[in-house]
Amino acid sequence: MRVRFAPSPTGYLHVGGARTALFNYLVARKAGGTFILRSDDTDAERSEDTYRDDIYAGMAWLGLDWDEGVERGGPHGDYRQSSRFDRYRDVAEQLVADGKAYYSLATNEALDAFRKAAQQEGRPPAYDGSLEPPADEAARRVELGEAAPIRFRVPRPGSTEFVDVVRGDMEFDHVQIEDFVILRSNGSPTYHLASTVDDVDYEITHVIRGEDLLSSTPKHILITQAMGAESATYAHLSLLMGPDGKKLSKRHGDTALRAYRDAGIVPEAMVNYLALLGWSPGDEDTVIDLDSMVERFDIGAVSRNPAVFDPQKLEWLNGIYIREMSEHEFVAAVLPLVEDDLGRQLNDAERSQFDELAPLVQERAKRLTEIAPQVRFVFGEFGYDETSWDKVMKGDDAPLAVEKALDRLTGLERWDTEHIEAALRLMLEENELSARKGLQPLRVAIAGSSVSPPLFESMAVLGRERTLERLQAAAARL
Ligand code: GLU
Repeated sequence: MRVRFAPSPTGYLHVGGARTALFNYLVARKAGGTFILRSDDTDAERSEDTYRDDIYAGMAWLGLDWDEGVERGGPHGDYRQSSRFDRYRDVAEQLVADGKAYYSLATNEALDAFRKAAQQEGRPPAYDGSLEPPADEAARRVELGEAAPIRFRVPRPGSTEFVDVVRGDMEFDHVQIEDFVILRSNGSPTYHLASTVDDVDYEITHVIRGEDLLSSTPKHILITQAMGAESATYAHLSLLMGPDGKKLSKRHGDTALRAYRDAGIVPEAMVNYLALLGWSPGDEDTVIDLDSMVERFDIGAVSRNPAVFDPQKLEWLNGIYIREMSEHEFVAAVLPLVEDDLGRQLNDAERSQFDELAPLVQERAKRLTEIAPQVRFVFGEFGYDETSWDKVMKGDDAPLAVEKALDRLTGLERWDTEHIEAALRLMLEENELSARKGLQPLRVAIAGSSVSPPLFESMAVLGRERTLERLQAAAARL
């Protein structure tokens, strides 16, 4: 079994593309086959190194290693379509020599008129070659240097049938398929030609790709047959939709994989979530790692219905993965983000403070990027979040709570979580304050925000001196 993922480096790796890559990877790994990464970079103008690098980085981040292809090499050169224009031209010319394709001399105006007339008469508008001059005249004009694209001669009448692994029996009547261009007049191949020649040359056995390419498949099968080769098996994956049931687009939020990495999604959660877009491990399991997916994946069980990409569900799953991390893994993942946020490295004393805080924030986090803002109050410059201040400190009980907390905490014999908690619970009781009314103001006072790690632990980590200073500052501001 040989499968390929064939992105065009004309944009950042899309989450839908990442799912296609994953499903190809799973199929190959399960069968002990070969997973190939090919670069469909025929469009020199729109292809960029930034995008190419982003695709490799995204695959590496997800842990989808490929066996053959770009960067890795293999028996078929560098696996870039931009290196293979000669090969595509040779195939196109061979098809012309075999009578299966032709240099097309019909003008654009004539083609437009043809399509318009067909529409008016209720005929299918697919161009059938009827505007071409006789073969000997065409040959003479091309010989004399007239620029002409090469079109594939679609056999008529006829139809192309195949069984799609996901979508079942497919049939395309050739009446609907025009004599499509395979080589442009400037000598560059179209997607149909380049993709098919590569699939044939690289001996691809299973083409697994997005449903947007379904209508291209009969064309690819026709070219494959004309080349005298055997067609691959095809599987077309349903497109992704937003939670509102419309095609996934920027309107729904980020569609580039990198945005999720940058937003603190861990790769294991991303891979897990991508797998669930159209597939299910069967029983109640939603949380499944890459190795178990390889064991259990079945491309034939993938749904043909559109899959909903729901960032909230992804976030929920991400929270599960974050809590599953060991303390050490969590600190390793988050510390660089915290230091980046502060613009400096933590010193040794701060590192141990951070190690104390880490498990407290790990418990609640849904994204790795939530952590840095939550620990800024210990390591960064202190300031109030004014929304939190207005919401919490303008209540009647805030001045009382802050003042009484100061009384209880000043002179506390031991500064640790347990003693701080006991002192503040006593303060609540003495002043008949609920935990919400009595403790939220203290949180805003010491953390600057109503969102922080748990209060007593935060005070313990912050230390006696800084905690009292901040309570005094808040009392003054109140
Ligand atoms: N390069 C095509 C794309 O980016 C996919 C080609 C294919 O899978 O056949 O959409």
